Amino acid sequence: MKGLHVNLGERTYPLIFEANSLAECGEEIHRHTPAKIYVVVTDENVDRYYSDTVRQSLEAVGSACFIYKITPGEESKSMSTAESIFTWLLAHRFHREIVIVALGGGVVGDLAGFIAATYLRGVRFVQIPTSLLAHVDSSVGGKVGINHPLAKNSIGAFYQPHLVWIDPSTTRTLPVREIFNGLAEVIKYGLILDRDFFGYLESHLGDIISLDDTDSLMHVIHTCCRLKADVVEKDEKESGMRRVLNFGHTIGHALEKLTGYAYFRHGEAVIWGMLAATVMSQQACQLPSSDADRIRALLHRLEKPPVPHDVTSDSILDAINVDKKMTDAGLQFVLLEAIGSCKIQALEPEIVRSGIEDMLACQ
Ligand code: ADP
Ligand code: ZN
Repeated sequence: MKGLHVNLGERTYPLIFEANSLAECGEEIHRHTPAKIYVVVTDENVDRYYSDTVRQSLEAVGSACFIYKITPGEESKSMSTAESIFTWLLAHRFHREIVIVALGGGVVGDLAGFIAATYLRGVRFVQIPTSLLAHVDSSVGGKVGINHPLAKNSIGAFYQPHLVWIDPSTTRTLPVREIFNGLAEVIKYGLILDRDFFGYLESHLGDIISLDDTDSLMHVIHTCCRLKADVVEKDEKESGMRRVLNFGHTIGHALEKLTGYAYFRHGEAVIWGMLAATVMSQQACQLPSSDADRIRALLHRLEKPPVPHDVTSDSILDAINVDKKMTDAGLQFVLLEAIGSCKIQALEPEIVRSGIEDMLACQ
């Protein structure tokens, strides 16, 4: 069993990594968060594969386990789903000693975490992420929340789980598109923080995509969580260094928004955003062209839909500006000085525009 701690003082919590381990999660969950009642929040897709296993494992330690299923997809990360869950929890008269267990991808994790942070002013929270994106992204950092019709992820909190149980084998049932969705964030960690890891991804991408090699998948997930934990430990509430995790996200978010959040998966939009940020890094940060070529080569190996024709550089620039990334100094971007080394810098709008135009031309 592999482990890792996210060190946040009294909110420190462990991540446990173990392949084919869902049937054994109950004992460890009970050890870290003893409870008579566990409430598992999941979605209908994940439920089909994994709820029974998790329920049986929790019941085996003598606890009761209730399952709440949501409809899969981003629409469920809403106030109305949250309200339905609150109503259900209150109708069952569940008290503050329950533990909420999020079993699923990022949507389930964010929503269930939001419920845990607010139900009766906060109950204990355990995460069992099941998508690659959730393994490498939402398992570390404690961002929980829901969407508002006016802005995504705008209602929420920083609320750390008590334990995160990561079974990389759950990726075997993921649709292939969701593998690429997660790999975008995986490559991001190499680009901003770890040159050797980027090299590892160049040589192992095929194995990871085919999910043939559990060891390389485990190595990838563990490395991403360690890299993210290092950042979050220094800046839990995103006031400084944590912003480097937004590499490729300014333009990625603009693309998601311009396509109504229904065309790109988050990671796919971030791949395009990273391609644009690579060009900007060459122009403003002296990113060597040999590094830029390696980045483009790896990013183009990830499948992603093209940017639709009606999305133009003007519309992207507009969307970025309303995304409040504007400061007095100009638009702030995370840029690369080299693979594995990044910095945050204000850019002239012309450099942003040329990065976007290059991205639109390279599809
Ligand atoms: P994220 O990409 O942020 O993890 P979701 O929570 O929406 O977002 O998960 C992506 C999709 O993958 C959803 O349709 C979800 O039901 C599905 N999913 C998540 N984990 C698994 C899994 N292990 N097997 C099959 N489908 C899964
Ligand atoms: Zn992201």
